[in-house]
Amino acid sequence: MAASKETILRGVQASDGIAIGPAFVLEDEDVAIPHWEVPKDRVKFEISRFRYALGRTKEDMEATHNKAIKVFGRSHAKLMDAYLLILNDPFLNHDVIRIIEADRVNAEYALTQVIDKTIRVMENFEDEYFRDRKYDILDVGHKVLRHLLGHEKKTLQSIAEPSIVIAHNLTPTDTLNLKEDIALGFATNIGGKTSHTALLAQSMTIPAVVGMRDVTSRVRTGDIVIVDGKEGVLIVSPDPATLANYKREQGKRLEELKRLEKLRDLPAQTMDGRRITLAANIETSDDVKTALAHGAEGIGLFRTEFLFLNRRGAPTEEEHFESYKRAVRASIPHPVIIRTLDVGGDKLTAIGMEGVSPESNPFLGLRGIRLCLKFPDIFKTQLRAILRASTDGKIKIMYPMVSGLDELRAANAILQETKAELRAQQIPFDESMEVGMMVEVPSAAMMVDILAREVDFFSIGTNDLIQYTLAVDRINENVANLYQPLHLAVLRLIKQTVKAGHEIDGKWVGVCGEMASEAELVPILIGLEVDELSVAPSMVPKVKEVIRSVSFAECVQLTKEVMNAASVESAQRILRLHANRSSAPSSQVPL
Ligand code: PEP
Ligand code: MG
Repeated sequence: MAASKETILRGVQASDGIAIGPAFVLEDEDVAIPHWEVPKDRVKFEISRFRYALGRTKEDMEATHNKAIKVFGRSHAKLMDAYLLILNDPFLNHDVIRIIEADRVNAEYALTQVIDKTIRVMENFEDEYFRDRKYDILDVGHKVLRHLLGHEKKTLQSIAEPSIVIAHNLTPTDTLNLKEDIALGFATNIGGKTSHTALLAQSMTIPAVVGMRDVTSRVRTGDIVIVDGKEGVLIVSPDPATLANYKREQGKRLEELKRLEKLRDLPAQTMDGRRITLAANIETSDDVKTALAHGAEGIGLFRTEFLFLNRRGAPTEEEHFESYKRAVRASIPHPVIIRTLDVGGDKLTAIGMEGVSPESNPFLGLRGIRLCLKFPDIFKTQLRAILRASTDGKIKIMYPMVSGLDELRAANAILQETKAELRAQQIPFDESMEVGMMVEVPSAAMMVDILAREVDFFSIGTNDLIQYTLAVDRINENVANLYQPLHLAVLRLIKQTVKAGHEIDGKWVGVCGEMASEAELVPILIGLEVDELSVAPSMVPKVKEVIRSVSFAECVQLTKEVMNAASVESAQRILRLHANRSSAPSSQVPL
């Protein structure tokens, strides 16, 4: 085995990090599906067999659901809710029973027919997230099949030493059962970037690669393997040189993490004393804990879309309220900026919006604040919950996708109306709650001097600002080379926004787009006099390190040079030179 040649297998990046160790290959999930004709008088029995298997599967799921709540908190337990939703979905209950009755076939065969048909439909979904939900259907189907066939799945308990788990599929249930000190990483045949298993691996910080197609047949238990979650590769029987390189890289990452950890409680301040607020972007209330653990000073962007996904219809006021209350309490003494709903036209059906026909240009369609103004009931429900939660800590509210004064005024009018209703009902809320807006549409950036009279702050959403300024779809790989944060038009719009915001009663301006998470670009945002940076939780330490290793004066000079560059390419060169010059540890960075 030791003499095998090094092989590199490619898959989909699921969870960043490097893991090295012996492989433990789990038995393949594929089971032979029996097919027989059911005599007429046995049809009822066959249906009851199917119902019994469904019931047993539900019991298993509920047990796992309770475990998920204990281990990961409510948001991640929602993944299990999605499974229970599938189990209760008419597609399983009705279609399978209909096939048993009409075709007089056994339950295993009928169930497989329904699953295969559903998977085929889902494979054609355009949205990657919804396409990936097919793995949930497959997993639920397998669980019911196991009960029908009387197979109990081999568990991961038989792994005796720390290993890399190689499997056809690791379900969220399996992933939850992985012992972190035993499972160093994993690689699976199936799965996508946004599959629940990938999300869980990320929150458990286990390096993982999924969607490798045939990894279970190309690796044997005991082979030495390397999981490179960042590159999405698995290296089987690495050469001594490869192994040494990866061990060095693994060591470097550990050292960097340790070094950055020391910055946790230090201020995000430049060497010449300019203070930047360094906050984090989150998707669920449970993420607050991670963000603060990394040293974030509160939440600069709470994307509330997560609450609307994986369900039919909009959440209730209580569901909103519970989520915001949890986030704001966990964040004390820091504030949480809650962004109101920002779903795009392509996700309308997912949240059950009726009466809206599909759009050919969803990014230019009924998105963000436009959608909220068209469906004021949905907007008001969210606003009521945000206002109610504002007595539990410090909340600021932020509108997405505002393109001009009329929209801003309309949103503010609904907010005032909602406040009046709460007052009439004697429901308390923070009367001095700050209200801000995102600057992500170029027209808004050009009108900040006027908009600033009606809001308390601005947060620049560079992800969209770049796409709308340069007419470059942010998710289209064919034009990815044209998606340029350093384009002079983008930098001018940011500069203009900050200047106009500051000039009108000193309104603060932050950046919450991905540009703020890119270490090389941070000095430019500081040079553009941005007051707050809100970044991915895992990027907080790195961004803080950059802030603490530069001076404001140097950033202003650098920004001038970059904005005077003849092209984006030369702007990038100037930045790279600067990054290389300042990579030497400074007095502000603990060694
Ligand atoms: C942005 O556009 O930069 C932003 C932060 O919002 P989102 O990525 O959610 O569109
Ligand atoms: Mg945006």
